[in-house]
Amino acid sequence: MTGLAIEWRPSPNHTERRGRARVEILVLHYTNMTSAEATLERLCDPKVEASAHYLVREDGHIWQLVAEHRRAWQAGVACWRGERDVNSHSIGIEIAHPGHIWGYRPFPPAQVAAVLQLSQGIVARHGIEARNVVAHSDIAPDRKEDPGELFPWAAFARAGVGLWPRDGALTAAPRTVPPLVAVQAALARFGYEIEANGSFDLATRNAILAFQRHFRPQRLDGVFDSQCAAILEDLLRQSDCAADEGFLG
Ligand SMILES: [Zn+2]
Repeated sequence: MTGLAIEWRPSPNHTERRGRARVEILVLHYTNMTSAEATLERLCDPKVEASAHYLVREDGHIWQLVAEHRRAWQAGVACWRGERDVNSHSIGIEIAHPGHIWGYRPFPPAQVAAVLQLSQGIVARHGIEARNVVAHSDIAPDRKEDPGELFPWAAFARAGVGLWPRDGALTAAPRTVPPLVAVQAALARFGYEIEANGSFDLATRNAILAFQRHFRPQRLDGVFDSQCAAILEDLLRQSDCAADEGFLG
């Protein structure tokens, strides 16, 4: 973490972590606001009841709002791998960005570099598993789309932060798409909150969209096609146990 300057701008919006209180998840957000200063003010306002551990400006400057051992209020109603109190088990980074509402655009290189270096430190300090580096949209697919399909997840994974499908999965020959109930079960096994009920309900569509935003950003259509199947199977193989056979297991 050499050379990473972090400015302390404390927010009152935090409590004690609950339960075993181990940090196991890193959640990345965009702010969805046009001004980082306004976001900082908002996340430090006790009436707003929201915060994050870090807020990274577009020029790469980092503000720390909440100490890492405290529970910041960033995930909201969320779930990942069955854990519903995501705030008690995660660290949240807010990335200053206008979001899909105010003009969705690539994240500036200086900001990406700062978020990456910050994330590398967090992952190392807390021993966070690659599959537990998530988008806000992964843990709240019905409500959130941040940080979205332009976030450089592949570059992050190459630098040791998060998962990315291996080349073979991306270039694999088309294969049969498994039945919906198997797709739902596999998405749930990976971490998404989804019921394996065999029906293409709104929750299923939103989880597939969140999956695409993170792992197959070239086409966001909510349709789980054969490429999605190959990618998810590879992610499961990378993250589960060696004996796991993906959809076939
Ligand atoms: Zn968010």
